[in-house]
Order: sequence, then C-alpha cells, then structure tokens
Amino acid sequence: MSVLAVKHVTKVYGKGESVFTALDAVNLTIEKGQSVAILGKSGSGKSTLMHILALLDSPTLGIVQVDKMDTTELSARQLDTLRNQRFGFVFQQFFLNANQSVLENVMLPLKIAGTPIREQTERGLAVLKAVGLADKAMNKAKDLSGGQKQRAVIARALINRPSVIFADEPTGNLDSQTGAIVQDILLKLNKEQGITLIIVTHDTDLAFKCDRMIEIKDGRITREG
Ligand code: ADP
Ligand code: MG
Repeated sequence: MSVLAVKHVTKVYGKGESVFTALDAVNLTIEKGQSVAILGKSGSGKSTLMHILALLDSPTLGIVQVDKMDTTELSARQLDTLRNQRFGFVFQQFFLNANQSVLENVMLPLKIAGTPIREQTERGLAVLKAVGLADKAMNKAKDLSGGQKQRAVIARALINRPSVIFADEPTGNLDSQTGAIVQDILLKLNKEQGITLIIVTHDTDLAFKCDRMIEIKDGRITREG
C-alpha cells in the first residue's frame, strides 16, 4: 500500500533570470512501513523533496499523493490538518522552546489541538519514556545535551501518533556516538511500530540499515534500491 507518492514532481525556485530547478520530474512511491534513506550531495534537492513529500511545500509541477489521494486540490488548512494528523518531523536544528520544560515542548502539538491537559500529560510522558527521557520531563529544554534535545524532538514528533516520520539529517549536529542512539530510536520506531521512516542522511551506514536507498543528484533520482 502506497503511503506517499510524487509523480513528475518539478520544483523551480526564483523568477526571471534567476530560476533554478531544484527537482526535475521526480517519481517516487513509498510503501507503508518502509524505511527510506535519501542520499546526495549538499544542494542536490534532498530537503526540497522531503518538504514536498511532507506537504510543507508544493511542487511547481506534478502531484503529491497521500494514501493514493491527490493533494493538489486541498486547501492550505486541509493540508495543515493532514500533516498534523499523519506526519512527525525531526530536523537537524532542534527547534525546541529553550525556556519551557521538556514535557511542555513535547505536549505542544496536543495543546494546539486542544487536547485535555490530563491526556496531554499522559501522552507526553509516554513518548518521553519511549525515547528514554522520562527522567528529564521537568527539566528546561535548554539544559539538555544535543542528543537529548534530538530525542525530545523525536518524542514531540511521536505525540500525534504519526504514520510517517520525516527526518532531515537528524544526526547532523550530533557526535557519532549520540547520533547512533538517535538513529537507533528512529529505526526501532520503524521496525516495532511500523511507522514509515523517510530520512535524509549523509551517513551510508545508516542508509544501509534502511529498506531502501534513494540517491539524488541535481534534482533527479539517480539511483534507487
Ligand atoms: P539539499 O537538501 O540536498 O542540500 P536543497 O533541497 O535544500 O538541497 O536545495 C536544492 C537546491 O535548491 C540548492 O541549490 C538550493 O540552493 C536551492 N534552494 C533551496 N531552497 C531554495 C529557496 N527557497 N530559494 C531558492 N533556491 C533554493
Ligand atoms: Mg538539506
């Protein structure tokens, strides 16, 4: 069952003489429960592809399907809802609110959704436990180490029980040992909970642990396994 697909997706940035084609007629189908590594040099179009798959950005040409449904006709609000219900995000920058507690940071998506506070707390603590951070729930986010911050981000990505997690160089700011812990958590969520994992990485070891590897060069998929 296809969970995400892009068909003939082209993304052009800029206008007039400064146009730049970041993605060039890309086709890709991702099956439910797959782990997919996206590899390629800096500037090859990895983040652009990920943002389009994640409905954070729209293609200049082509279509994006979620569960075989074309998203082209959806309103911005419908796209927001779909994204919030289905996707979790783990990016290289941690994007945590430094002065709030770890738990508050993790519960934020539920707060926005108007979930009762008691349920926010229960689910917040459960996802923190899943990433091994239950004992840091009441600490301020700024007091965590880099690896702990990224685990808090993963916890926050899990709070809406997503079917897909998008991770853009999630270990890029971490030393190799801490990076390995973060990577293992992501792979475990894929294997044990069946969450589809789409991960942009420079790390070929990590890529080999995924079900599929996709290489992008100059906005085109050049290799697929
Ligand atoms: P990667 O993630 O593989 O490093 P990106 O997808 O971020 O690459 O970028 C692909 C290309 O598109 C790069 O040349 C980049 O400079 C360009 N690009 C990305 N975002 C924009 C933007 N908002 N405006 C103009 N050019 C952009
Ligand atoms: Mg990038």
